[in-house]
Amino acid sequence: MERADVIIIGVGVSGLAAALTLQNAGISCILLEASNSVGGRIKTIIKDGFTLDVGFQVLLENYSELKRFGIWDSLNFRKFRSGAIVSREGNLDWYSNPILDPTGFIKSGLNFPFPLKETSAVLGLYMDALRTNDDFQELKSAFSTMDYLRAKGISQKTIDEFFVPFFGGVLLDTRLEAGNQYFLWLFRNFMTGRAGLPLGGMQTLPFGLASKLKNQDSIRLNYEVINISDSQVYCRNGKIFQSSFIIDSTGQSSKLNNKFRSTTTVYLKGPVNKEISSSLVLNGNQDGNILHFCFPSAVQPRYAPTDIALCSVTMRTASADPDIPSILKELHQLLPDIDWKQWTYLHHFFIPKAIPEHQSGPRTHYRQEGNTFFIGDIVSYPSINGAMRSGREAAEKIVELKSKA
Ligand SMILES: Cc1cc2nc3c(=O)[nH]c(=O)nc-3n(C[C@H](O)[C@H](O)[C@H](O)COP(=O)(O)OP(=O)(O)OC[C@H]3O[C@@H](n4cnc5c(N)ncnc54)[C@H](O)[C@@H]3O)c2cc1C
Repeated sequence: MERADVIIIGVGVSGLAAALTLQNAGISCILLEASNSVGGRIKTIIKDGFTLDVGFQVLLENYSELKRFGIWDSLNFRKFRSGAIVSREGNLDWYSNPILDPTGFIKSGLNFPFPLKETSAVLGLYMDALRTNDDFQELKSAFSTMDYLRAKGISQKTIDEFFVPFFGGVLLDTRLEAGNQYFLWLFRNFMTGRAGLPLGGMQTLPFGLASKLKNQDSIRLNYEVINISDSQVYCRNGKIFQSSFIIDSTGQSSKLNNKFRSTTTVYLKGPVNKEISSSLVLNGNQDGNILHFCFPSAVQPRYAPTDIALCSVTMRTASADPDIPSILKELHQLLPDIDWKQWTYLHHFFIPKAIPEHQSGPRTHYRQEGNTFFIGDIVSYPSINGAMRSGREAAEKIVELKSKA
């Protein structure tokens, strides 16, 4: 039986954030990972020279946890253009973020994604968002995002044409059921920071975090945990570990509400063309199978071989078998300036368990039951920042408990 001060189960970003926090405090840990790689839900594959993230994911430059772990510079982050293009009944509207891109906003003709009569409602929303901080869960009022937007006086048309494709796409939640606190946190982060991609794909993040562990032998891949009992952790391969503290980042405990939202990301390849921009394009029509799409290679050129562009399409309904001809037809309706006949299928990912459902109501970022700490986005909130914060705070609590022992 091996012993360590702390056993961490699962080596996604939450487990890694916990391990690095313990390392800084001089506390030893062993990380047990069921799969053959670190990173959990953040994975990247290389196919035919393309860098394909397993499901469209982005980082926001104002994710506070990234800076804490000293990982930022190594990511070689490049940003999407702030704002979004909304395609609605054949018309394209460019909405620039007045805070981050005032020039673009002026050039767009001071274009807002809502009618003038809704200005005061949207200002109220901005004010609520600016009042949130990373402790957004402490806001008093807890509604679903949809109920919150309606209560603020935002019309259903604006909700359907802008908020559903944008935030519904980010949250994989087209009914906007996620809690309003989480929505406001996200809204503030999109208003005040840009989304982007690391040079080598999203997996650069967990790989970079893992490389900061001084004892690389502490990571055990292909160690699936099958039971935890009396401070002992049992793995399918017969190994047993003992520790006075256990951090469980797998999200599999029956004590957690582990319902997930699913998604399908379709990758297409085609010729580079001046119409390809580094903006997210939203489907502002209330029908169709596409929620939004973008061109990751316009943001991070290394995502595609020279002179070829990569398009990432997020589908409204997740499916293991997406209908590529109808996707190309719909893309043609949404962005007719591009000759979609020259585009072909590259790959797709169907991810049944992508993002945990987020419910309204107060919560902590980790959950403690005796000497076991449950962490991850499932406990905190569904984002890389939430997952990392959860791991860090649980580890800080263990450091505190050990210092008192
Ligand atoms: C398609 C998609 C899009 C997303 N988009 C974004 C985005 O744009 N921005 C953003 O911030 N976030 C996004 N997210 C969410 C983000 O990826 C997650 O919040 C984050 O990766 C969760 O990290 P975690 O450590 O909590 O969990 P996980 O990454 O799930 O890690 C848990 C680990 O536990 C391991 N494990 C499970 N069972 C066992 C066991 N029995 N024994 C040992 N190990 C086990 C798993 O293999 C895994 O490695 C997206 C996620 C997906 C899938």
